[in-house]
Amino acid sequence: MNASTTPRRQFLKIGAAALAMIPVVAFTDRAFAATNAAMRTALKYQAKPEGEKNCATCMQFVPGANAKANGGCKLLAGDTEISPTGYCTAWVKKA
Ligand code: SF4
Repeated sequence: MNASTTPRRQFLKIGAAALAMIPVVAFTDRAFAATNAAMRTALKYQAKPEGEKNCATCMQFVPGANAKANGGCKLLAGDTEISPTGYCTAWVKKA
């Protein structure tokens, strides 16, 4: 083995490792778009409002790209599918 093959092999190994990570990153990114089923159940989340109470008027809501887009909730970690018209028992009026 000469000195010039070692860096090339390292480059190829790093390149292969980087390629192998792409599906993991993509899967992880997709997982972030998932729901937090355990917390939804615990807080009795529903995709419809409860009277005047809804996620868009809750202090825990993290808005999505626009007023009608799904967003997140500070209490439901990793859940980015919270409807602005949803509701759960942890609702607290936005100040
Ligand atoms: S705490 Fe409940 S009502 Fe408030 S934003 Fe989160 S899911 Fe919606």
